[in-house]
Amino acid sequence: MDNPNTPSTPQHLAQHVPVERSEGLSSYLSHLTANPFFTAGFGLAALATAARIGQKGLQHGAALLRRRMLVDLEITRHDHAYPWLLLWMTNFHRAQLAGAQQPSRRGVISTLISRINPRLHHLQVNTAQAKTGPSHGAHFFFVPGHGKHVLRYGSSFIFVDRQREKAFNTTTGEPFETITLTTLYAHRDVFEQIFAEAHRLHQQMQEGKTVIYNATAGDWQPFGDAKRKRPLDSVILERGVKERIVQDVQAFLEARTWYLDRGIPYRRGYLLYGPPGTGKSSFIQALAGHLDFNIAILNVSQRGLHDDRLSHLLTKVPPRTIVLLEDVDVAFANRKKRDADGYAGATVTFSGLLNALDGVASAEERIIFLTTNHVERLDEALIRPGRVDMTVRLGEASEYQIAQLWDRFYAEFDADGQGKQKFMAKARELGLIDTVSTAALQGLFLYNKDDTEGAISMVEGLTAGRSHP
Ligand code: ADP
Repeated sequence: MDNPNTPSTPQHLAQHVPVERSEGLSSYLSHLTANPFFTAGFGLAALATAARIGQKGLQHGAALLRRRMLVDLEITRHDHAYPWLLLWMTNFHRAQLAGAQQPSRRGVISTLISRINPRLHHLQVNTAQAKTGPSHGAHFFFVPGHGKHVLRYGSSFIFVDRQREKAFNTTTGEPFETITLTTLYAHRDVFEQIFAEAHRLHQQMQEGKTVIYNATAGDWQPFGDAKRKRPLDSVILERGVKERIVQDVQAFLEARTWYLDRGIPYRRGYLLYGPPGTGKSSFIQALAGHLDFNIAILNVSQRGLHDDRLSHLLTKVPPRTIVLLEDVDVAFANRKKRDADGYAGATVTFSGLLNALDGVASAEERIIFLTTNHVERLDEALIRPGRVDMTVRLGEASEYQIAQLWDRFYAEFDADGQGKQKFMAKARELGLIDTVSTAALQGLFLYNKDDTEGAISMVEGLTAGRSHP
């Protein structure tokens, strides 16, 4: 039995006190809840907390889902594949507009999905002025604009986010850009397919073409659209000259293991010199087309180009690309100036050029062409073997070249060769053999495109353009 005097056991307390407290608390709470201000405030606070928790939960959930289920692929503008991807998207978009068939699918959900055919809704126009056909012709390419897009590629949805950064490339003035592709983790293989397609597309676009690279901001960038390959026989050099160079380059390309086995840098240098308009650039372009190479052109007197940058550029030339260093005599002129009055020059120095040429060594073949109009200004050091292995003069038009050029223009109008004979006789009489450039001759023939008599009657005009009497 309980004795009222017996001190309360903790159990008593446990039973008793809470009752008292809970009564007090509940009456306190009932007071509070009776207060409309408190109820409203409490409700709001609770709602806000719930919303915050919900939002955080959603954010975490979304991040988790994203981590688990999605995969991102980021590509920056600096990457070579960046323009290929833009090209691919443009093409893909065009195919969608043309109602290209998507792969068929089965099932209700699949059928529904197949009806969702996302389109690019934010495009950017790239205009290219036609270089052939009517002069006013222009092509418009719609590339995905900046922002977010959704593409459906087969059974995969791909979110495309093209973002332009605030930062600019200080040399080219171009903004930095990235494209991020996101898709389901389970569909990550599509990225590989897309890039393979983009690469194929890029190659198709360049087939039969020569890409010309220019140096910008320490890197090589394609200069304009790739050019149609120039046929070798469109360049008319003195008898056997073309064949000699082509054979030499081909022998070099076939001798890769020979060079590598002996630890000799796998490079070959050529110097083409001669007056302007004798076909130096045209020949290099045709040779590149013939070998299925591209061309990286660098003018060594280019502003902003200095020794370190030149060295750097020469070590990262794109594969299968001929390097063309134009007007190398200018580098020598710099050296003279420097020697004379200590002027270092804003451009490449002579020793910088030599170092850059010597530094060119890679497992890939490196073909370097130097051109100059003033070979007499070149230092022996530049043209010693290893730097320049073959030197060829392209001179003013010889009899052989004039006759060849005539045939290229007038073969169909002058089947019996009478016109050619008259023209050659007059050219000899006027002392034009080996004194006028092929470019000047081509100019005359172009002016009289289908008029042999016109060309013959105007031949005197060439005397004014003779490089020497
Ligand atoms: P270079 O580089 O020697 O100054 P280019 O190759 O730039 O000369 O020639 C200028 C123009 O003259 C081009 O349009 C080119 O087609 C023409 N030309 C010059 N030389 C030749 C040549 N040997 N054969 C065919 N065309 C030539």
